[in-house]
Amino acid sequence: MWTKLQNTPRKKAPRKVAVIDPGACFGAFACSICQAACPVEDCIVEEKDENDRWVCAVLIDKCIGCGLCVTVGNPTAPGKRDFGCPADYDAIDMVAYPDVIDAVEASLGVAASAESEPATT
Ligand code: SF4
Ligand code: SF4
Repeated sequence: MWTKLQNTPRKKAPRKVAVIDPGACFGAFACSICQAACPVEDCIVEEKDENDRWVCAVLIDKCIGCGLCVTVGNPTAPGKRDFGCPADYDAIDMVAYPDVIDAVEASLGVAASAESEPATT
C-alpha cells in the first residue's frame, strides 16, 4: 500500500482535474502508476470499460488537480513531476473542471451535480 498525503475531503473544486482515456490506459492492476503517483486516498479507482477491461478512472470529487499522475512532458499538467502515466500510453490529461462536469452531466443526460462520478465519458 502506498502512502497518501490527503485523506480528508477536498476544500474547494480545483481549476482542472485529471481525466483518464480508458482506451489509452494500459490497464488497471497491470500498471497502476497513476495510483502510485496520486497523493489523494481513493482518488484513482479501477473500473471496467465498455469492453469489460479493467482500467483506471479518476473520481472528480476527490481530484485536487495536482497533475502528479500525468505523463512527464504532457503539456496539460500544471507543474513539474518526477513520474506519471507511462509516455507510451499518455492516457491522462488535465481538463478544466467545469468542462468535465458538463461532459459527465451530458453523458448521464441529467442537469444535476455529478461530482461523485468518475471523470470518464
Ligand atoms: S491530478 Fe492526478 S495525482 Fe493529482 S489528485 Fe488528481 S488524479 Fe490524483
Ligand atoms: S498510469 Fe496510465 S496506463 Fe497506467 S493505469 Fe494509470 S492511466 Fe492507465
